[in-house]
Amino acid sequence: MESASVDFLVLGAGIAGCALAYHLRRREAGSVLVYDPRTPAAGASGRAAGVVTEQLWDRWDVEVTRESHREYAELCQRWEPDAFQSNGFVRWTTDAACAEALDAARERLHGWGVRVEEPSSDELARWVPAGRFDDVRAALATPHDACVRPSSLTTIYAEGARSHGATFDFGVPMEKLAQGPDGWTLHTATRSVTTSRLIVAAGAWSKELLRQIDHPLPLAPYRTQAALLAPPVAPEPFPAVHDLDTDVYLRPEGPGRILGGDGTESHESDPERFVTGGDPAFLAHMAETLAGRFPGWAESAVVGSWAGVCTATPDRHPIVGDVAAAPGLTVFTGLNGFGVMRAGGIARRLADLLADSAPEAEAKAALGPAWAGRFHGAGPPFAPRPGFTLEPGDQPRW
Ligand SMILES: Cc1cc2nc3c(=O)[nH]c(=O)nc-3n(C[C@H](O)[C@H](O)[C@H](O)COP(=O)(O)OP(=O)(O)OC[C@H]3O[C@@H](n4cnc5c(N)ncnc54)[C@H](O)[C@@H]3O)c2cc1C
Repeated sequence: MESASVDFLVLGAGIAGCALAYHLRRREAGSVLVYDPRTPAAGASGRAAGVVTEQLWDRWDVEVTRESHREYAELCQRWEPDAFQSNGFVRWTTDAACAEALDAARERLHGWGVRVEEPSSDELARWVPAGRFDDVRAALATPHDACVRPSSLTTIYAEGARSHGATFDFGVPMEKLAQGPDGWTLHTATRSVTTSRLIVAAGAWSKELLRQIDHPLPLAPYRTQAALLAPPVAPEPFPAVHDLDTDVYLRPEGPGRILGGDGTESHESDPERFVTGGDPAFLAHMAETLAGRFPGWAESAVVGSWAGVCTATPDRHPIVGDVAAAPGLTVFTGLNGFGVMRAGGIARRLADLLADSAPEAEAKAALGPAWAGRFHGAGPPFAPRPGFTLEPGDQPRW
């Protein structure tokens, strides 16, 4: 049995863990090993829609996502240009109360330096000719937004980390994780690895993993769904869209295909055993939305549908940084269904903290409302509420 020791042991090779490994090694922070019992992007990162938008409800999130956006554009330009599309994002509603919330969001976003536009129904029809928008009461567009291919970005980060000296251990089940006098030790079937800094970036698996090592945090894994659609006629390029009335979002995906999502559940799912395909009810809701709002796409064939498990937190902010009362334990999780857009920016900030490349107080402050120290233990159970909403606060209506 081989044993090794590393400065940083990252658990999880989703977009979060791989982006963090990349940023740590770019800062030459020390030796980095990424461990995953599966393969990179085997979790939510390989199932995500990849919408990267600044239409968010929190200023910190907007700034983090802007950093991700910039980094994704550069990385994809260099390694896989078609994994990044700068196609903008637009939301609309026919509902009076939602239109008011959309207006408040516009004011807020404008104040945070986001370039927002209010397209008319005619403009929407020009952008998305398959749709009908005559009854739309209000719409908000962010033309600078993008869509990425999340599995490609995860691989780009992993390869980037590897080229800067990170090592990887994939596909071997974990046997034990324990804290001892020398730090944390991971035991797998083939080796043991000790580290003074363990980083849990295991997405929806983080809840159980943290519970097993007696440092539980308030995390709720929940299932959300997507489908790949083939419309009868290949669509011209269009922005990612979100119909606030039905909560369905759509984005262009490869030649002649559309990726549509929704079907977010408000109860917990176990990432080890969940229904991995799309539900009939989800597909029926998608079909209804297409028939009502996108007559040009109503006859789309469903090429495939799937579900993935995301991770909610009680206040809908991620949980990032050192775990209170657990020396050497850091977390990067609770990404509340928008971990693709958040991962690059958060990884950069967390790496600054772990690599001591910024003064500690400054680096902690840069993690803003995500700072892990706000939670002590798992707290009472809570229902997952998706993060991709229009309104701030604990009980957003849209
Ligand atoms: C259908 C769908 C659509 C989505 N659309 C978007 C979107 O448009 N925009 C957006 O920003 N986000 C989107 N998301 C959310 C996004 O996918 C996630 O927030 C993000 O991928 C989380 O990344 P992660 O690295 O934290 O977790 P994951 O990608 O889930 O990775 C966790 C990894 O941990 C590994 N692991 C498990 N157990 C262990 C262990 N014991 N030790 C080590 N590793 C372990 C797993 O094998 C897995 O590879 C969507 C998600 C889904 C499912």
